[in-house]
Amino acid sequence: MSEEDPFSNALAQLASVADLLTIEPEYYETLKNPRRELTVSLPVKLIGGNPTTFVGYRVQHNNARGPYKGGLRYHPRVGLSEVKALAMWMTWKTAIIDIPFGGSKGGITVDPTKLTRDDLEILTRKYVDALERDIGPDVDITAPDVNTNAQTMAWIMNEYSRLRGHNEPAVSTGKPIELGGSEGRSAATGRGVAICVREAVKRFLKKGVKDVTVAVQGFGNVGSNTVSCLMDMGAKVVAVSDVLGGARATGRTPGWSFGDLQAAVKKRGSVGKVGGAEEISNEELLESEVDVLVPAALENQITEANAKRVRARLIVEAANGPTTPHADHVLDRGGVYVVPDILANSGGVLVSYFEWVQNLNRDHWPEEAVNERLELKMKKAFNEVVDHSVKESVDLRRSAIALAVDRVVTAMRISGWH
Ligand code: NAD
Repeated sequence: MSEEDPFSNALAQLASVADLLTIEPEYYETLKNPRRELTVSLPVKLIGGNPTTFVGYRVQHNNARGPYKGGLRYHPRVGLSEVKALAMWMTWKTAIIDIPFGGSKGGITVDPTKLTRDDLEILTRKYVDALERDIGPDVDITAPDVNTNAQTMAWIMNEYSRLRGHNEPAVSTGKPIELGGSEGRSAATGRGVAICVREAVKRFLKKGVKDVTVAVQGFGNVGSNTVSCLMDMGAKVVAVSDVLGGARATGRTPGWSFGDLQAAVKKRGSVGKVGGAEEISNEELLESEVDVLVPAALENQITEANAKRVRARLIVEAANGPTTPHADHVLDRGGVYVVPDILANSGGVLVSYFEWVQNLNRDHWPEEAVNERLELKMKKAFNEVVDHSVKESVDLRRSAIALAVDRVVTAMRISGWH
């Protein structure tokens, strides 16, 4: 199997913690596969185009700790292996940040840039129609992921509510504030990543966040909010990129503000076109001479091939699965600390949980309350993972997965699975 097959990588990560835990073999076998894998065909009569059938997925990995929870991704290369891996990672993520959810993920194989807004709405509604009986506030709750956003979540909520005959905001999270979205949700993943950078820099590099340089790959929801929070904390974000390319400041101090980066995307189509900096490729961004590297785009960016050229001493994984298991070995041998995705980007699902709680209670919390709880939970999870890694003498990824698996299996055992 290729180094880049996401589900094989997720299985390899699970296997890597087997010797750290005493798990009954039947639970281990159960966790190796999702409880349910749903593939749906979605015929859509594109406005002004031909009828086209898209393929959608919903994979529900485990719900021992609570309803399934996971984002929805629109991408031309979305496939079952990727969605299965992402669903498994969601199970570990909800366990590590300690919220009462399980793990799931969804996807549609589509290039959303080729569809009009109206066509995207129709496609999203078709997805909900096909999965109506398999999702819901107590069953499986969706959220934004790559190429989906608050608008997508609003369509999901509206379509599900229409089918059910009553208003049901808790079926999706990451909604617009006007429809029951939580304050702080859109920035939550990036904010959580920035908190992990700050804590990891302190713990491992023995520095303050103001003293480090950072490179961030990806300038979407997660990447841009990470950059914004890190800049607010005083970190020097000296390299940024998106799918079209990147920019690197010539010295240790970037000559741009967050507004300049946003303006480059808006006016010139890419953050790499910010100006006053060296234009670089994504490969060059990953190999930048910085203290901290934050991959915030897609999986499999750091592989066996380029891991040895990574010069950062700390990687904080904002994206899901950006480092392959082969690359992990190379980085570990090179003394590079890796704060794993299931911890680093769990701020998003955490605030999704806050949104779900608010929706079920018809409540709305102020942003300060959301951010305060986010800060507390992220720090607690970070410290638990680091302390466990010291206790077991393992890297942070194995520590996080082992802790998460242990929590999930404990729930399975107490509730009497099998
Ligand atoms: P997004 O669609 O908003 O942004 C993706 C960014 O990555 C864009 O800037 C895009 O140009 C860039 N990109 C895409 N392909 C690239 C490539 N080959 N090289 C370099 N850059 C590339 O998506 P997002 O919501 O920011 O998600 C980014 C990552 O974070 C994904 O791995 C996602 O699963 C993960 N994640 C997202 C959330 C969330 O709350 N949105 C939560 C947890 C994890």
